Amino acid sequence: MKRVGVLALQGDVPEHWTAVQGVLPASHVQLVRSVADLRSVDALFLPGGESTTIGRLLDSTGLAGELRRKLAEGFPVLATCAGLILLARRLEPSPSGRDPTTLGALDIRVRRNDYGRQKESFEADVRVEGLAGGPFPGIFIRAPRILGVGSGVTAFAFRGSEVVGVRAGHVWGLTFHPELSGDPRIHRAFLDAVWGQNTEKPQSTSRTTATRTIPRATAHR
Ligand code: GLN
Repeated sequence: MKRVGVLALQGDVPEHWTAVQGVLPASHVQLVRSVADLRSVDALFLPGGESTTIGRLLDSTGLAGELRRKLAEGFPVLATCAGLILLARRLEPSPSGRDPTTLGALDIRVRRNDYGRQKESFEADVRVEGLAGGPFPGIFIRAPRILGVGSGVTAFAFRGSEVVGVRAGHVWGLTFHPELSGDPRIHRAFLDAVWGQNTEKPQSTSRTTATRTIPRATAHR
């Protein structure tokens, strides 16, 4: 059976780890910290966190180059929040002037922290096209806003009329955090879409134990 990696450089890694284990047996989930780790997985989750920090660590570990190479070959990636920022092709410059170099796999234009500060983080229903079971509980933490979507990119998740989730081939990007909702539907839909419908699911954990409250995690800045 295939293995999925969780990029474990910085950010809400434990939450993704828990969420993926609601969908796959633990033996098929691996933390990714090195190029060798990345070469041993068949898909990758890019967590939320601090995109400049994650970007710097991607560069210093050599993971950025390997990830670019794999993305060009169709490697499946689900990216949330800071992860989406790192995949964007165009980033509006931040007032601080400190922005990550992005991997450019998603032809979208993004502005970081566009809903305000940490205390302006919020929960809102998200309509995810093709997802059964009603609206998805979206948790937005110092979220980026998607300002523009290129022609090869499909918008598939919406908060009202606003685009909050996009995909291009096997690369999915979300401005919210499905790993924090305790709802495994998006993780499952992603793996089903990129690997086919035969994702092996643990019997007892259809919902993960991840918390639904918005954490004050300093990581999400
Ligand atoms: N504000 C963070 C950034 O710009 C992203 C926040 C998050 O991942 N929750 O990198």
